[in-house]
Formats: sequence, C-alpha cells, structure tokens
Amino acid sequence: MTAETLTSPTYATAAELLAAIEASDGGRPILDPATEELVAHAPEHTVDDLEAAVTTARAAQPAWAARGHAERSALLVAAADALDANAAALAELLSREQGKPLNGPNARFEVGACAAWLRATAGLELEPEILVEENGSTAELHYRPLGVVGAIGPWNWPMMISVWQLAPALRMGNTVVMKPSEYTPLSVLALVKVLHLAIPEEVLHVVAGGREIGEGLSSHPLVDKIMFTGSTATGKAIIRSSADTVKRLTLELGGNDAGIVLPDVDPAAIAEGLFWGAFINTGQTCAALKRLYVHEDVYSEVCEALVAIAGTMPMGIGLDEANVLGPLQNRAQYDIVADLVEQAKASGSRVLIGGDPDTARPGYFYPTTLVADIANTDALVAQEQFGPALPIIRYSTVDEAIAMANGLEVGLGASVWSSDPVRAREVAARIEAGTVWINKHGTIDPRVPFGGAKQSGYGLEFGVEGLKHLGAPQVIDG
Ligand code: NAD
Repeated sequence: MTAETLTSPTYATAAELLAAIEASDGGRPILDPATEELVAHAPEHTVDDLEAAVTTARAAQPAWAARGHAERSALLVAAADALDANAAALAELLSREQGKPLNGPNARFEVGACAAWLRATAGLELEPEILVEENGSTAELHYRPLGVVGAIGPWNWPMMISVWQLAPALRMGNTVVMKPSEYTPLSVLALVKVLHLAIPEEVLHVVAGGREIGEGLSSHPLVDKIMFTGSTATGKAIIRSSADTVKRLTLELGGNDAGIVLPDVDPAAIAEGLFWGAFINTGQTCAALKRLYVHEDVYSEVCEALVAIAGTMPMGIGLDEANVLGPLQNRAQYDIVADLVEQAKASGSRVLIGGDPDTARPGYFYPTTLVADIANTDALVAQEQFGPALPIIRYSTVDEAIAMANGLEVGLGASVWSSDPVRAREVAARIEAGTVWINKHGTIDPRVPFGGAKQSGYGLEFGVEGLKHLGAPQVIDG
C-alpha cells in the first residue's frame, strides 16, 4: 500500500464499504434500528471459516512476532491514518447499523477514538523490568507474545471496543481472530477492511456469526487468549468453555455504575456532566452512570437541573445532524428498558421526564427518561438497564449511599460529585469499582488502565498495564 492509499479515502461512502465486505443477499439481515429497514445482509461465517481463520492466524504469528515492536507500531500508526482517511464512510455505516447519531459523542467520535487508540497503543513503551541485580546475576521480567488472541465483542461501541482488543494484541506480536456481535457485524467487518489497508490480512481476521462462533473461538486449542467484552452471563460461559485449554482471559463485563452526589455540589454546574455520564450512546455504554444517588439537601435542585438538560437533547435518526441521541440498537434491549420503567412506575416512582414511548413510530426509540423517588430495591436500580432511563435515589448519609453503591455484585465504574476534592477522594476509596471518577463519569484514556471489580470482570485494558495483559510474562534469571 502506498502512503497515498492511507491518507486519501479508499471508500467514500457506506455503500462502498458494504460492497467491499461483500454484504449481499443470503446472509444475516441487519436492520437500521432507527427505521427498521434493511441496511444489508451481513456475511454469515461458519465454524469451518473459524477453523480456517485460526489456522491462518496461527501460521502467521511467528513472522509477525519477529517483525518487532517498532515495525508493528509503525503499522498501527499507518492503520490509524487509513481510518482517518475513511472516517466519513465508516461513521455513516456505524450510524446506520448501530443507530448512534453521527453528531455528538457518537459515530464520528467513535471512529476518531479508534484512530486515537491505535496511535496511543503504538506509542506505549514496555521495557523488560530488572527485578534483582546482585552477585553478577540478573533477574529480568519480559513480556513475550501469547500466540493467537480471540476477541469477542458487543454491539454498543462495536468499532471502538474492537480496536481496544486488537491494537494491544497486535502490538504485542500476537495475531487476532475477531468475533463481532451478531447485531453489529457490518461495522467490525468494515473497520477491519480499512485496517487491512495497513495491517497484513493474515494477522487480523473477522469471523462473523452467532454464539457458536464465540463458543468455538473460546474453546479452540490453537487460541491462547480471549479478550471478551459483553454481558456477565456470557463472560461466565466463556470462563467455562476456555477452561479445558487454560486460556488467558480479559473479561470486561456488565456494569451498573453508581454516582454519588455529595451535599456540597452546585447542581447547575454538574448537571451536564451527570447527563452525558448517564446518556452517552443513549445509555448503551458499559461504564455509563446507571444509578444516581443524590443527597436530600440537593435532591430537588439536581433533579430539576437534569430535567432542564434532558429536554434540550434531540433524539432521532442518526444521519440527521440535529440529533445527539438515537434509538436502542435492537428490539430486545428496547423491551428491557421499557419493562424496567413500567415496573418503576408501578411501584410508585415519579417519572420526571420521558417514560412514554411513541409506539406508533418505527425504530427502537425510547425517550430520555429520569425517574425520581425510586427505591434502591427497584428493578430499574438493581438491574443494568443499558438504555436511556436513569433512576435517581435520595439518600441522607454518605455511609448509606456508599452501602447502596456497593450493594450489587458488579463494580465496573462509579463516580463521586463534590466541590471538595479531598472529601470526594475519601468517598471514592470506599467504593468497590475498577474506576472511580470525580466530577465526571465514564471518561476513558488510552494511557490509563480500565477494568472491572467483582463480577464486572478481570484483567485490564489500556496503557502499559493493558499491553502486559496481551503478553506472556517470562522471567530470565542468570
Ligand atoms: P453479550 O454477552 O450478549 O454478547 C457479547 C458477545 O458474546 C457477542 O458477540 C455474542 O455473540 C457473544 N457470545 C454470546 N454467547 C457466547 C458464548 N456462549 N460464548 C462465546 N461468545 C458468546 O453482550 P451484549 O448484549 O452484546 O453487550 C451488552 C453487555 O456488554 C452489557 O452488559 C454491557 O455492560 C457489557 N459491556 C461491557 C463493557 C466493558 O468494557 N466492561 C463494554 C461494553 C459492553
């Protein structure tokens, strides 16, 4: 590939990308969640295709590892250039398949984050660690390639999460076989098509299909590690299916993130941060704010400030530039959100805004919904809603709020909101979550490790710690 191929668009539109990935009649029908119209038929691969991909990836791995860090990093940077050059077509396809708007922290943002993550991952340094040096002998810790990495992903941020998995895996000298969600295969196939402008095809594969492909990958004897992002239930299934081959696992699973608003806040100043912490990607984000605990002294003001902001955020078809919120990605997720809000209403909670979907409208649109005066035991609080419906729970003492925040089996992210940074850090230290943000929620950074506590998973992604999880630690002592 020439440098020009990587900096000028190869695919001008989503239609050109669809043609390139051979989306044609006969595969899995993919519906636009905003209109329920057909986007395209996604290729439906088989377990034989999986076998071919794993075998090829295995054969290609030693030569890929031999190319060394500098060369692999240069290819990741070239891949980022290719993504930037084809960003418009990728964002259009992502918006049509996933539903997220082009505008706001959505489709264009996601494609841009993919390029940023590739560059940041290319720039990380992982030097051998000298552990002990005495009597003329040295013990060093190195990280060698693992071999073949299987990457299984969800439908909410299909391109970005794929890059989170493949970039550190490739950087560390592994080859990769991806299994995208059956809801969003087109986005991942198109992403990888563009990455192949820079990265050799034999080191990065996509096998699109259903659960049987995921099961085949996670039990395959030639696969050394699984990077999985998805629900806690599927994560447990992968632990079981990978047990016989003792695979390494990184599991980024479900969350039900709590936010605790202390009584000293300025409600107007924090409302926008709270809103986007909860409603980014229309609530379909693993580390979104999903339960908001607000001190009784500021409860009414925080609720009012959130309602004011929620009312100004347009929701609709993703390709319309006016919109910053979109539909749920699929009917099943819509039904989960609608059912949880109905249960909250039935138990006497107060709907401040939303909660009244227009069922005559096509698409899986559920309106931005805020629910106040809700009990901590209500299903909308205790279960992950993964959609645009935020429960706001009143509390009286910080101890009570922390106990409620820690009361679930999951612990991905959390946040504390306060104008006193020392107090906020004291509260943060008592919360059982992999990341606790202060006066923000869900902001991630390719240099900062990210991972879950409790049943939100194990292993870390991002930064040097993330690279280490894609390597086999080896001690050289002598
Ligand atoms: P899911 O678990 O239903 O599916 C994820 C992937 O696993 C899909 O590709 C699916 O085909 C595959 N799969 C299903 N059964 C399998 C099996 N038995 N073996 C192997 N693979 C199998 O998750 P989802 O509905 O796509 O995503 C939503 C969930 O993901 C939410 O709970 C959300 O919180 C979580 N999530 C977590 C993170 C994180 O970083 N922690 C990020 C995004 C989403």
